[in-house]
Amino acid sequence: MTTQRTVLVTGGNRGIGYAIAEEFLAQGHRVAVTARSGEGPEGSLTVRADVTDIDAIDAAFTEIEEKLGPVEVVVANAGITRDTLLMRMSAEDFDTVVDTNLGGSFRVVKRASKGMLKARFGRIVLISSVVGLYGSAGQVNYAASKAGLVGMARSITRELGARGITANVVAPGFIETDMTAALPDTQQAEYKKNIPAGRFATASEVAKVVAWVAGDDAGYISGAVIPVDGGLGMGH
Ligand code: NDP
Repeated sequence: MTTQRTVLVTGGNRGIGYAIAEEFLAQGHRVAVTARSGEGPEGSLTVRADVTDIDAIDAAFTEIEEKLGPVEVVVANAGITRDTLLMRMSAEDFDTVVDTNLGGSFRVVKRASKGMLKARFGRIVLISSVVGLYGSAGQVNYAASKAGLVGMARSITRELGARGITANVVAPGFIETDMTAALPDTQQAEYKKNIPAGRFATASEVAKVVAWVAGDDAGYISGAVIPVDGGLGMGH
């Protein structure tokens, strides 16, 4: 029997975050999602927050703590892309992506760590990407932000590992969401040729791994990078 936890998923109104929230709900946990728009799955508490706004994050946590109790599991999932080649990438394209994906994760896990330290328990899961360590032409900003999450999880592990807190990275490959639907068909076909599994994953396949690494059976896993990429990034 899994211990029932209070879980927060950022960007839980669609895509992978929505599937993660659904999976935790299915396993009987209390689930809050942050969203800038839309709603999380039925049964979750949706709280408005932009991860680039530290005050909004603080207010979201306060509301969740009041309604569902202290956050014991946090999944930093909110993320964006602004793909273009290095020569064409503006400083704003770079800063916005890094501030959302890496800075947003920092703001959320810093706030979450307050309650986790008090409870001497916590599960932090950062949603990275295969391209963080594999690299990707046209994604200098995105790959840098996602690689940064590895250093973040490993440093948190060293700082907080003795307090019952784990911090891990889940690195999805290509997943069927709005983010990949935006890719031209020819590019999608090209990517599939290079994936040993020969297909994109469903968001639910990522969600189940996230729930597992946040669960009771994974208490001795920390600072790990767990790929869910059909073999695309092997060895990276
Ligand atoms: P989507 O584009 O479908 O959803 C992105 C989510 O992030 C939305 O909920 C969005 O909220 C939220 N978000 C974006 N910016 C902010 C912000 N500033 N503040 C709060 N929320 C924000 O993406 P996916 O579901 O595909 O991706 C989810 C995560 O998984 C991302 O971190 C992505 O990098 C990663 N990933 C995705 C892969 C894929 O193939 N799809 C592969 C590898 C990693 P809103 O709707 O309100 O804008």
